[in-house]
Amino acid sequence: MFRKKTVPNSKDELTNEHKIPGFDNISSIFKGKSTALKNELIVENSLIEESLNISDTNIAKPSTNKAVQLIQEVQKREDRTIKPFVDYNEGLLFYPILSKIGESQDNVTCLDDLVSDGILEKKVYEKLIVCPIHPDTFSASMRLYCPKCHSMSVEKLNLFEHKKCGYITESTNFDFADHENSNCPSCKKPIKNFEKEIRVPAMWYQCDDCSEKFDNAVIKLHCRKHEHDFDTNSGQFVTTFSYKLKNSEISINSDTNQIKDELLKLLEGFNFNAKLNVSIKGKSGNVHEIPIYGKSTTSDESILIFIKNQSDGIDQSDMNSILVPKLDINPTNTLLVTVSGVNDGVENLAVHYGIHLISEPDFSKILSRVEEFVSDWYSKNGGKK
Ligand SMILES: [Zn+2]
Ligand SMILES: [Zn+2]
Ligand SMILES: [Zn+2]
Repeated sequence: MFRKKTVPNSKDELTNEHKIPGFDNISSIFKGKSTALKNELIVENSLIEESLNISDTNIAKPSTNKAVQLIQEVQKREDRTIKPFVDYNEGLLFYPILSKIGESQDNVTCLDDLVSDGILEKKVYEKLIVCPIHPDTFSASMRLYCPKCHSMSVEKLNLFEHKKCGYITESTNFDFADHENSNCPSCKKPIKNFEKEIRVPAMWYQCDDCSEKFDNAVIKLHCRKHEHDFDTNSGQFVTTFSYKLKNSEISINSDTNQIKDELLKLLEGFNFNAKLNVSIKGKSGNVHEIPIYGKSTTSDESILIFIKNQSDGIDQSDMNSILVPKLDINPTNTLLVTVSGVNDGVENLAVHYGIHLISEPDFSKILSRVEEFVSDWYSKNGGKK
């Protein structure tokens, strides 16, 4: 079971075996290609229109989307990382966080989909050594044997040296059972910090059965489920992965500097305290780099403005990278402005995420569209310029 899911190149197999209908929706929301999704988006659209009419500021309805829920769950975690849980007895690997969004805990495909969507970053978490004959069970433990008689009754012996007085003896003569109240057998002084006060000048093994003393015990790995030993060098590796939420990136692009300055002035004209390229701490405590952040001086309202220009058009991954800081910072409004084209399905995605997308071929048109947007919002709140 487990190996199939972690071995590279088995993605097709995975997709066939483990793709769960619920998650099919998630990946297709990102890829914008499911018909079921389109229906959902239409529903979303009308919801959003309603909420706009009543000036509801938080227009996103992210809970309808499992991928968004997953991002929100990860954002709650300090290390923003999804870690695997390994059940060594059963030989299973799963991601408990998936149960929080109603997914099967071993549905690795949905995490990998978010990697290809640019939201998560896949990292090697652990290399597990598994039995070469039974690679599906990864409950291998280490065993030490006497090199002479192959007994497992091997003891580890150390020499300990009390640094203060220079006394050296076998470790068995030091009693460290009570860590707080140990004393040197020679000078009787108390030993409070073992690591600092005691040196280990030598270490060896002794066999209880044949009394042989040796420096290196024979090390074998033991396949616990099928009860046999295997050589450490013959063991196979199984790689487990963790998934980290990517940080929002801003492309510092010199030709966007001018429009940034203009947008800043515009926001200030509407009583916003606005800043360029600012680090904002989200609810999760994580910091996001935001190209333009505006905070109203007269209310609690705020705005994030992202600027992205892509020669091959704004795509889903551009929207996804904005979604992460948006959900974490939770501003009143989020804008994405671009002089680039917008790829198919991205506009619907923007609506779904509650991101206001402005795409115009030149900066002056972008500026007037942003002004229109902010002005509408401002007048709804009864403000005057
Ligand atoms: Zn085995
Ligand atoms: Zn022995
Ligand atoms: Zn001493």
